[in-house]
This record gives sequence, structure tokens and C-alpha cells, in this order.
Amino acid sequence: MAQIFAYIVHKNGVADDTALELLTAAKKIDPAASVTAIVTGEGSALDAVAGQVAKAYNEVWKFSAPVFAYPNAEAVRPLLVKVLPAGAILLVAHDTFGMDLAPGLSIKLNAALVTDVVGIEGLDGSTLKLVRQEFGGQVSTHVAADVSTGAVLTPRAGSFTAAEAAASGPVVDKSAEAGDLVVKRRFIEVVAAEVGDVDITKEDVLVSIGRGIEEQDNIEIAQDLAKAMGAVVSCSRPIVDAKWLEKSRQVGTSGQTVKPKVYLACGISGSFQHLGGLKGNPFIVAINKNAKAPIFQVADVGIVANILEFMPALTEAIEEGK
Ligand SMILES: Cc1cc2nc3c(=O)[nH]c(=O)nc-3n(C[C@H](O)[C@H](O)[C@H](O)COP(=O)(O)OP(=O)(O)OC[C@H]3O[C@@H](n4cnc5c(N)ncnc54)[C@H](O)[C@@H]3O)c2cc1C
Repeated sequence: MAQIFAYIVHKNGVADDTALELLTAAKKIDPAASVTAIVTGEGSALDAVAGQVAKAYNEVWKFSAPVFAYPNAEAVRPLLVKVLPAGAILLVAHDTFGMDLAPGLSIKLNAALVTDVVGIEGLDGSTLKLVRQEFGGQVSTHVAADVSTGAVLTPRAGSFTAAEAAASGPVVDKSAEAGDLVVKRRFIEVVAAEVGDVDITKEDVLVSIGRGIEEQDNIEIAQDLAKAMGAVVSCSRPIVDAKWLEKSRQVGTSGQTVKPKVYLACGISGSFQHLGGLKGNPFIVAINKNAKAPIFQVADVGIVANILEFMPALTEAIEEGK
């Protein structure tokens, strides 16, 4: 049976949504596996996270030390090399921390590395079959990884549904096993993202536009639709880069993390950097003129259409229905 571990990222005493998604991914590798969560940090925030995660995982390993106060891969990497058993499979979310941690860790462990995992087809002997994305999500690749010496996998946020809290495992304080960890990287301050005229992180319904909007003047079309729906306009990064909307409206890994109930992705391809900012399992409606756009892989409803025609028609239909 595979020995599966999940490294859990957290902020302000709250486990990231990916905590339960990683458990689903682990069960796809081996439904019978006992899965151990690993949390690092310090103080009461760490205790709170360990308590939350213990409601779903079979066991939680807690490592408390000042060196873990910030998510620093430079400290977590040697820790995991020290404490993971030989042949272990480790899952860590494909975010900036995971991307920092995973490659070097896989080399130190002599383990397979598969990043940006969007699907897991199962374990057959020592071969693990997975689906990952390349070229900014333009290509899905089916991978057969030899995991006989272990593996480090980084599942993409939102690609696996959050597991229900089924197990209730003990929290084991393993801080003493961390030993002395010396780091050269020093965290100075956390700079909160700017909040503009609207706070898209608090909105239930977002009409989000991407490069498919084509011209700045067309943004009005999205604003009309948002108004009709009682929603707010957000966007992908190219729209901010073009200075068509403020940075505070950008969804993604270098923008805002949003948790709407409904997300209309209009002319957005679905890069992992964009989807990385979408949390809380929203109902995603994707409108894109390219039927093969990667956004359709995560959408609950997919509409192949020209947004410049579809959005005004939808606005009109909503207004008529009022
Ligand atoms: C370090 C880093 C951080 C990043 N952070 C972010 C981030 O936080 N957020 C973010 O969004 N991106 C981010 N990116 C950029 C990201 O990689 C993508 O380039 C970006 O998300 C693509 O935006 P898009 O989907 O709007 O554009 P594109 O990828 O160009 O997609 C446009 C889509 O619109 C469709 N389309 C075109 N015309 C129409 C039409 N008339 N009707 C319907 N559909 C149409 C096309 O078929 C296409 O699918 C980051 C990149 C890097 C390297």
C-alpha cells in the first residue's frame, strides 16, 4: 500500500481549500490508503490548522518552530527529506510555495516529480498514471510515472473536489524531529493586495473577462451584464497589463483569490495562474469561442460562443425576465 502524505498550506490559522482537495487526489492514487497531513508553522495558528485538518485526515504530523513562521520552502524541504519514509508519495498544492518546494525535494528524495496535476488515473504496481497540463494549459498530457522510489506531485487547485471530512485522526507533535534548520531567506513583511473601488474577494457573483474581450471599449458589455446580474466585473491578467481595469480586479496567483458562488469566465482560456485564484468550488460558467479552451475542463457549464454577441444577448434576456 502506498504511503501518502499531503503538505498543507495555511494562512492566518485557516487551512487552504486545497487541504481537502489533496485528500481526494490521494484517494485517487489508492482509495484504501491511510493519508497523513503535514503542517508546519508555530503557535496557536498552527494548532488551529492541525485541528481543522485532523477532521479529515487519518493522522496529522505537526512541526512547530519559529523557522516555519512563514511558508519557506528552504526550511520545509530539508524537514521533509528528514521525516518522510522511503518511497513516500507527497502531495503539495501547485501554488507558488509548491512550485518552490517540489522540484528540489524530488531530487533530494530521488523521487518522481509530476507538476500541475489535473487528474489521477490510478496506481498500477509502481506506475502511477496522471494527467497534467503543459504550454499554459493548451495541452493535456497523460503521464506514467515510476513511483517505486516515491513521488512528489503538485495537484492544481480546483482540479479535485474537496473531500468530505470522514476520518478523524490524531495530531502528533513531531517538532523535536525537525532538528536545527538554518535558512538564508528572511521574510521581512507581508504586503496585502490593494483593494480598489470594489472588493472582488467578497462578491458572490463575478463576471470575469479575459483577452477575448478584445478592446477596452467592449468592457462596457461586461459591466452591463454584471449590472443586470447584480454581479461585479473581474478579469484575467492581460486586462490589467493593458491597463483596462485596476489590478484589484485581477483574479489569479499574482492577483486576488476569490471565492464567489458563481463565476462567469468570458473569453478566458483557463491558465493555471488564473484558476489558482479561484477557490471555494464556485459554479463556473465558461464562454469561449474555442471549444478546446482549457477553461472548459473545469467549467460546470461550457458555452461555445463569441462573447461580444453572447454577453449582450444574455443581458437583454435577463432584463426582459425582470
Ligand atoms: C508568474 C505569472 C503570474 C501570472 N498571474 C496571473 C494571474 O494572477 N491571473 C491571470 O489571469 N493570469 C496570470 N498570468 C498569466 C497567465 O499565464 C495567462 O497568460 C493569462 O491568464 C491568460 O489570460 P486570458 O485567458 O485572458 O488570455 P488568453 O490566454 O489569450 O485567452 C483568451 C481566450 O479568449 C478566447 N476568445 C478570444 N476572443 C473571443 C471571443 N470574441 N469570444 C469568446 N472567446 C474569445 C480565446 O479562445 C482564448 O481562450 C500569470 C503568468 C505568470 C508567468
